[in-house]
Amino acid sequence: MSDPRRQVPRTDTLLADPQLAAAGERLGLGLVKDVVQRVQQRIRDGEVSPPHAVDAVLAALPSTASSLRPVLNATGVLVHTNLGRSPLSAAAVEAVVAASGTTDVELDLATGRRGPRGEAAIAALLAAVPAAEAAIVVNNCAAALALVATVLGQGRELVLARGELVEIGDGFRIPDLLVSTGARLHEVGTTNRVTLADYRGALGPETGAVLKVHPSNFVVRGFTREVDVADLAGALDGTGTPLVADIGSGLLQPHPRLPEEPDAQGTLAAGADLVLASGDKLLGGPQAGLVLGRAELVQRLRRHPLYRALRVDKTTLAALEATLRGPLAPVQEMLAADVDGLRVRARRLAAHLAAQGVDAAAVDAEARVGGGGAPEHPLPSAAVSLPASFAEPLRRGAPPVVGYLDGDRTLLNLRSLLPSADDDLAAAVLAVAAQ
Ligand SMILES: *Cc1c(COP(=O)(O)O)cnc(C)c1O
Repeated sequence: MSDPRRQVPRTDTLLADPQLAAAGERLGLGLVKDVVQRVQQRIRDGEVSPPHAVDAVLAALPSTASSLRPVLNATGVLVHTNLGRSPLSAAAVEAVVAASGTTDVELDLATGRRGPRGEAAIAALLAAVPAAEAAIVVNNCAAALALVATVLGQGRELVLARGELVEIGDGFRIPDLLVSTGARLHEVGTTNRVTLADYRGALGPETGAVLKVHPSNFVVRGFTREVDVADLAGALDGTGTPLVADIGSGLLQPHPRLPEEPDAQGTLAAGADLVLASGDKLLGGPQAGLVLGRAELVQRLRRHPLYRALRVDKTTLAALEATLRGPLAPVQEMLAADVDGLRVRARRLAAHLAAQGVDAAAVDAEARVGGGGAPEHPLPSAAVSLPASFAEPLRRGAPPVVGYLDGDRTLLNLRSLLPSADDDLAAAVLAVAAQ
């Protein structure tokens, strides 16, 4: 028997193959070399035969120079933090591509002088939230909180209800972030109840701001009480103490599907001085932290040295502006989708799969906003139900499909996918069925 190692094609030989040379130019030589070496190892291990080396390398090459891959989100969680939160609209993607080269993000082309950075994105934000006098955009909502706590709370007290000491996820605790900036927390009320008198009793010369944090991912039921923004604003009126509301979810205006969810416009109109929100939750845009509200406060945040460390890049500004000015963002389309339309899609997909011999059925299901929005607010949805054994191979497929197990079935929930993904979804299921 011949030694397979003798037959392993040399790296130089493989890289000289026209297809692999072209891949090297597109993806970078280092990346292609890595894949070549992995395939050479598979040849030594007897998994690939030498004449198939080039094909094996081509099959194993990623489609881009980044290892992040597009995934079909069939989890029914619209804003899934582990799946990159909101997908950008086609308009936002185009804007990102256009801005990703050399661009006039901070240059006034008419005068040739330096211009205000991200002016158009800010203007779009202010147009969407007329109650805001000014706005800035930072890296994410956590950065917005850090900036506010630094500017308004450092060496002073931030007054915050005990029931709003929130852990967002992955160990991220808002009170820890606030304290890390040098602010002191003055907690008021109990876990379940806080009154206006509690807040009043905490105000004093040390108070830097009163902070209201939306408990994004839990609800407290039973013997509960909280103070709404309008009452808090009334109590603070004339004291000069700013009221800052972290609404998290990024709704700029009220949404008919989510009547309980606070929005930036309504929160400012109720009397908050600043509203903080995420860009990649219900707004459906890029990761960003939005700070909207009174011009004097926004100006103070912008002038602080920390702002420079937290500001966003040109591609984020481009995506944000396009999300605000462009067509409905995917997350908002998903939120608005009619459940009967989702059922039609589920039936059509299930029938198509069943016709190919797959054990598939259309079922009703529930979806959720996720990502710290509208906890406990299920959205009616529909799903394609498959045998449980499909879950893992679907996740490992190309493109990967992430569904979830429900009893002894794998469900592919359609509310978190746009209809344009249905053909890819069906193809991915058929590919698994054919394995
Ligand atoms: C999600 C959330 C945050 C964190 O937002 P990021 O944009 O992920 O930093 C902060 N506060 C609230 C209330 C949230 O819901």
